[in-house]
Amino acid sequence: MNLAPQVERYLPHQVLELVGTISREADRLGQRAYLVGGVVRDLLLGHPNFDLDLVVEGDALELAERLAGTTQAKLATHPRFGTAKLSCGDFTLDLATARGETYARPGALPTVTPGTLSDDLLRRDFSINAMTISLAPDDYGELVDPYQGKVDLEHGLVRVLHSRSFCDDATRILRAVRYEQRLGFSLEPETARLLERDIPMLRTISADRTRHELELILREKHPEHAIRRLGELGVLPEIHPALKGNGWIAGSFDKARQLSRAGQLPSLYLCLLVYHLSEQQNERFIERLNLPNSLADVLRHTLRLKTGLPFLNRPSIRRSEIYRFLREFRPVAIQSNVIASEFRSASLKLELFLTTLRYVKTSVDGERLRELGFPAGPELGIALRRLQTARLDGEVKTRAEEEKLALSLNPQGD
Ligand code: ATP
Repeated sequence: MNLAPQVERYLPHQVLELVGTISREADRLGQRAYLVGGVVRDLLLGHPNFDLDLVVEGDALELAERLAGTTQAKLATHPRFGTAKLSCGDFTLDLATARGETYARPGALPTVTPGTLSDDLLRRDFSINAMTISLAPDDYGELVDPYQGKVDLEHGLVRVLHSRSFCDDATRILRAVRYEQRLGFSLEPETARLLERDIPMLRTISADRTRHELELILREKHPEHAIRRLGELGVLPEIHPALKGNGWIAGSFDKARQLSRAGQLPSLYLCLLVYHLSEQQNERFIERLNLPNSLADVLRHTLRLKTGLPFLNRPSIRRSEIYRFLREFRPVAIQSNVIASEFRSASLKLELFLTTLRYVKTSVDGERLRELGFPAGPELGIALRRLQTARLDGEVKTRAEEEKLALSLNPQGD
């Protein structure tokens, strides 16, 4: 089957130009280059995908260097792995020399050996990701599909290539569910059986790799679908026994999308995922995924703030008290409590802080207080704090009112 028309139709002009250059330059070097993986899958589905992966029969580094010389693209190479990355505007191109992989033991990083295109496709996760499109001038656009990935795409199936696949690399368990839920597919029955059999293999995967796959799930458009499915299949407890993929998660993820910036979403989802964990369980979760300190702190703040919500729920609380209580917490932790809190009035106060209070500034600063005759020393700090309280609580609204209040606070004034 020739997919040249789909390549022309779905790839943007700039990418097509690059594809043309790759085809010519690879040919000049006596190499054969193929589009591979997600871009082929998505071309067949008619979905846009600007992250191109290229597998090269020959030497990917040599080809990448040649391309960097003839285009505007920026080049980064990893000679140890025989891979290179070209970045050009909005899209990236990953090049890899065709290789085979073997696994010394489950979960180990693979031993890589130079290989043929067939070896390279056999090492891949699923049939729908194990197709290539040739860019060689003599068969440009030809689909190479040894594992019937196209048929699986038509039937909506995620299928592994062999029965040891999840054992070799259990991150594929998380990947399988991610693709299944993203594409609205099903796990092919034998694949589902192998996946359930090999769930304990997730223990062979490092914390960093597990975290990376979970992050990819949380960057999906509707991660709650994959989370629910991971719960149904019994995968979530392998990551942490207290994690749930229930209706509460679905509802709160949905609310997160309505209320928050896209860039904030993955960490916000993570906060919601741990929202019903105890602090101790949360610590185990942080350790299980080796979360970076900043993210770990956001999760800790989320749970700490949750226990402090009754304080905010008091009807008589002043705006300055809200400010002083919340300014210690990370904004994402506050936002997660806006979404998850069962106290409506506390949620409103959290929102008030995020949208307004945290930006309130006094017009009079320390320098102005000195000009107004304040002595340097602790009184100055006390006066500034008093002014801020007055601003937050609406006792003063203008610079003139602030200055009047400041003068009344001056210990050396009359
Ligand atoms: P998307 O980015 O849309 O999730 P993709 O297919 O581009 O999809 P990548 O994670 O960029 O996904 O991986 C590129 C290709 O590398 C995949 O299509 C697959 O063929 C292969 N691959 C990635 N991870 C694995 C893995 N753990 N085991 C085997 N093959 C993998």
